[in-house]
Amino acid sequence: MNKEAILMDKMKVLQADITKLDVDAIVNAANKQLKGGGGVDGAIHRAGGPEIMEECREIGSCETGEAVITTAGQLPCEKVIHTVGPVWNGGEKGEAEQLAGCYRNSLTLAADYRLSTVAFPNISTGIYGYPKDEAAEIAIQEVRNFLEGHEEIEEVLFVCFDEENKKIYEEKLENPPE
Ligand code: ADP
Repeated sequence: MNKEAILMDKMKVLQADITKLDVDAIVNAANKQLKGGGGVDGAIHRAGGPEIMEECREIGSCETGEAVITTAGQLPCEKVIHTVGPVWNGGEKGEAEQLAGCYRNSLTLAADYRLSTVAFPNISTGIYGYPKDEAAEIAIQEVRNFLEGHEEIEEVLFVCFDEENKKIYEEKLENPPE
């Protein structure tokens, strides 16, 4: 395999409930207050138990595009990385750079903590309303670029909850730009 194929081979699409995955780290699409909420955030806190929220409370808050790390409580993974995606506001308010930051900063934390398999939900594409196709484009591009400089990350899973996101990711990963 050439270098590009090796990078692309580390990215996988999965349709699953992210809370069930036995990877090193799962990423949570959190809110700035780290207070839990609906969507994937609620599912992670429900399944992981109160320990995760206790650590979130100690950390306090997280800016959009940034990431923090906590225990995984009762989840099968080792750690939860909480990142705050941008709320979609038309696309001219820096949303793309913030969303890219979510992927970059989450993977930076994973690498710092020697977590080599990481699962991402489709950040911002639920309640925060980011267009799915554009969000997937950014996610794949940003992860690919990070993997290029960080061989220690072995596998990145894009965990799609809905069929639409799964199709979008499969299509983009099968047909990467030249
Ligand atoms: P945001 O506020 O960042 O938009 P949401 O949690 O509303 O976050 O949605 C982010 C993505 O997570 C959506 O694509 C949603 O379908 C998905 N999602 C919701 N629950 C789960 C789950 N248990 N596992 C994986 N993905 C999930």
